Amino acid sequence: MRGFRERMLVRDVWAWIDERIKPLHSESCPTTNSHGRVLAGDIQSKMDVPPFNRSAMDGYALQADQTVGAGDYNPIAFQFIGESFPGQPFLGEVARGHCVRIMTGAPCPLGVDAVVPAEFAILEDKQVHITQAVTPGKHVGLAGEDIRKGDKILNSNRRLRPQDVGLLASVGVTEVEVIRQPKIRLVITGNELVQPGETRSPYQIFDSNSVMLQGLVERDGGMLESCIHISDDCEAVRTAIISPGADVVLVSGGSSVGAEDFAPVIVVEEGELPIHGIAMRPSSPTGLGRVGESTVVLLPGNPVSCLCAYDFFAGRIIRRLGGSRIDWPYSQQMYGLQKKIVSAIGRLDYCRVRIHDDGVTPLAISGASILSSTTQADGFVIVPTDSEGFGPGEKVTVYLYDSWSRK
Ligand code: AMP
Ligand code: MG
Repeated sequence: MRGFRERMLVRDVWAWIDERIKPLHSESCPTTNSHGRVLAGDIQSKMDVPPFNRSAMDGYALQADQTVGAGDYNPIAFQFIGESFPGQPFLGEVARGHCVRIMTGAPCPLGVDAVVPAEFAILEDKQVHITQAVTPGKHVGLAGEDIRKGDKILNSNRRLRPQDVGLLASVGVTEVEVIRQPKIRLVITGNELVQPGETRSPYQIFDSNSVMLQGLVERDGGMLESCIHISDDCEAVRTAIISPGADVVLVSGGSSVGAEDFAPVIVVEEGELPIHGIAMRPSSPTGLGRVGESTVVLLPGNPVSCLCAYDFFAGRIIRRLGGSRIDWPYSQQMYGLQKKIVSAIGRLDYCRVRIHDDGVTPLAISGASILSSTTQADGFVIVPTDSEGFGPGEKVTVYLYDSWSRK
């Protein structure tokens, strides 16, 4: 058994990641499958939206200046000459004194400049009696009012939201250039692990890290290449790490300096492991390196350490490869601390907290093996490397695990 001689600072690990990891190349993707993908370039519209002037109401299209003075006690009569439906316009020109019944979204015919809503009109024997005056342009959506031909509608590196995909469809885009999703391999090690659903002997435990990591990888835009479950067998771990095909290999368990911790030795033998041991709690036995084309992250097996190390390093790598922003996908909020948080100079702390009506408290039971501390918590507070902690009453930044499902 070896010990960690020195531990690297979190900010230096981040600098290593940001310098070494660059976004992957782009590929073409059908717009219909592009939700969540990251744009490789700006998108410009090749058309106006809407492509024609259209009605924003069900009513009557006419010339606005002829409605001046119209009211309940002074209806003004127009001759009813036809109808315009969405996709089936009225094709003629509308002369003065004439009107066309029009539906929401239907093209405005030539000669009209406004629409009077149906509730201010009475149709009787081919005559429409208008009881409201309208100004030119009223209830008419002009061609190009949403998007103009040539407008830049979405920026490079944007992770596409559902409404973005809708916007792409609205300008007729069928394929978009997106950054390739990084392929992620999970290598889950541990003689003691069984899968939920399998028979568990008394001293075995269920593997919780692989499903947790799959969720995190999906959240960050990665694509699961494979999830390999293996025992603490040096050659099995070696094969799982060195096989080509993954942009990132995440190894869970056996990342430290114990007798069964093979992964660090293998990465040194097969590639390079410039980072092993990080000045933080939990997750200090984390390693980062490279084997062949793959970036390898060695995640401690303790579930909280595994989550924390993923969030600090693996997620950042996956988001960067995929062209997303590197920062955490957690919203931040300031809260008053109700109980002190103690740390040590030289080490960064990841402290789970719970939100109450009058502030936040750190969770009492918070060891690296206590996964329920992360489900009881609403978020976490970071105690920076150069701080000894925070006292009661201090304002702290809370990173919220999510913004909507607080208990
Ligand atoms: P290791 O990092 O392999 O030394 O494991 C540290 C602790 O985490 C041990 O108590 C393991 O049993 C536990 N552990 C390792 N892998 C997993 C996993 N996939 N799911 C749940 N617990 C794990
Ligand atoms: Mg293990």
